Amino acid sequence: MNIQTIIKLSIKRLEQEGKLLTPDAYAEAFCREATRAGYKVEDCTKLDKFKLMLNKDFQDELKKYHIKTISEFTHFLISKLNRTIPSHCSNLLESQTQFTKRVLQVIEILHNKEATNLSKKCIDLLSREPSPVDIDQYRQLWVNFITTYDDAFLQRLKLLGEVDSKDLRKTIENLDIQDIGAGQTDTIELSKIASLLVASLVPSIASDINEKIADLSQRIQKNPSLLENSTVEDDIKSAIFLRIALDKASVKEMIESKDGVLDKLSLRLIEMIESSDSSTIEIQKIKKELESYSESATTNFAVAHKKLYTVAIALEENTQALTKDLKKHSSEVGMLSKKIEFLEQELARVKEESKEDFLTKLPNKRALDEFVNIKEAEFERYEKNFSIIFFDLDYFKSVNDTYGHDAGDAVLVAFANILKKDARSMDIIGRWGGEEFVAILSETDVEGAMAFAQKIRNRVKNARLMYQDRRIELTVSAGVSERRAHTSVQSTLKSADEALYKAKKNGRDRIETK
Ligand code: GH3
Ligand code: MG
Ligand code: MG
Repeated sequence: MNIQTIIKLSIKRLEQEGKLLTPDAYAEAFCREATRAGYKVEDCTKLDKFKLMLNKDFQDELKKYHIKTISEFTHFLISKLNRTIPSHCSNLLESQTQFTKRVLQVIEILHNKEATNLSKKCIDLLSREPSPVDIDQYRQLWVNFITTYDDAFLQRLKLLGEVDSKDLRKTIENLDIQDIGAGQTDTIELSKIASLLVASLVPSIASDINEKIADLSQRIQKNPSLLENSTVEDDIKSAIFLRIALDKASVKEMIESKDGVLDKLSLRLIEMIESSDSSTIEIQKIKKELESYSESATTNFAVAHKKLYTVAIALEENTQALTKDLKKHSSEVGMLSKKIEFLEQELARVKEESKEDFLTKLPNKRALDEFVNIKEAEFERYEKNFSIIFFDLDYFKSVNDTYGHDAGDAVLVAFANILKKDARSMDIIGRWGGEEFVAILSETDVEGAMAFAQKIRNRVKNARLMYQDRRIELTVSAGVSERRAHTSVQSTLKSADEALYKAKKNGRDRIETK
């Protein structure tokens, strides 16, 4: 059958059905005849193709209104467009924001300080048209909060009776405080205060253990009721002063070397500037800053570091300008360039001396080595035992491979937070390198250290580590050793390392000791 025959049949069909020969009626008849004759005409299937692009509701509506031609289809779309309300989206956003604020207000009055603070900040944020970057930043902070949220206190409450963790208020109202005898509470309180006091007497920065403090601590710990004795009061007061003095002395000693470098650097730069003829505003500014810095004798690492960098940048930017002037004084050039070389070396040395891991903000290997030496000295002098734990995250490479390096970094930070949360103030937690961490537990034997490591292992296993809404499953292995069981600190370290190797070999997600 050829096209002429189909055209003829279409016209005939219209006549038979008593329809007018309009373009739409003709197109419809033509398509039907062409299909009957076994032809596929692209124009006839156009509407079906468009239909499939619409959602199910619209497709149903097309059926309901018997829309068959492109022109009817166009009318349908235009009427839909006319009914669309442009403000719909912003209304929705507004009501979602209001909704979020209400939820945040609820969280704010719940009894968790961290959540309350975060909620307050978020309500603030929502009140000033935040950018998607701001919102994302706070979303990540909430993720961190959930990850490290610790409900272990419920377990402790359980000791006092049945706890309904879904309804804490009921539990607390039901607690029968009368049950605990009055004398008993006093003793419990006193020994609690005694251990708090002793912890506060340990210098937080100074590495020396002062014998006077150590002696007083021991006496109070052994007999908390001494606290009721007024003669001990003066001893405590002087121990507190001593502790502050020790800390101060340590800070001074630690930063003196850095301040020295800074002073040298300032003097040299001022010398250089003064010997040149240049008087640009930029140079004047740097000079003033350096002078004011020397006067204020800052005792703050962060400021000292920042200043060093400022000076280094200033040196770089001004070297070009200065060389012009310096050419006039060619005899001085050699000497000054030697000085600059020296200063650069000093700068490199200060950078090298950094003791903080940039990612987790924990002490790095260099700092840990020093802590180990301090603990060893205490062991040799006072026979104070200590334990070492090596932690290594399991299959960490696959975290990087599956979720990306940023996720890996976030996991390292989360793990550091878990360690920090559980450590006591006298313990030292640090990053040994890569995904390996170390805990040095003061006055702790291998059983105590094993218990600590198991606790961390469980925390990691149960942590809700979220990265961009995906949950990362993580486990950790650890090796434990105590100083007392070895002849040297080196063999203690080696033993912990070997125990870690054993934990990996025995299947990971486990703690071993040799
Ligand atoms: P195992 O259970 O045997 O310990 O396996 P593993 O994959 O954890 O150990 P492996 O030593 O094969 O891989 C360690 C990975 O840790 C490789 C390295 O890319 C990654 N890594 C080390 N430091 C960092 C870091 O700072 N950030 C990130 N994202 N990854 C790191
Ligand atoms: Mg490793
Ligand atoms: Mg590993």
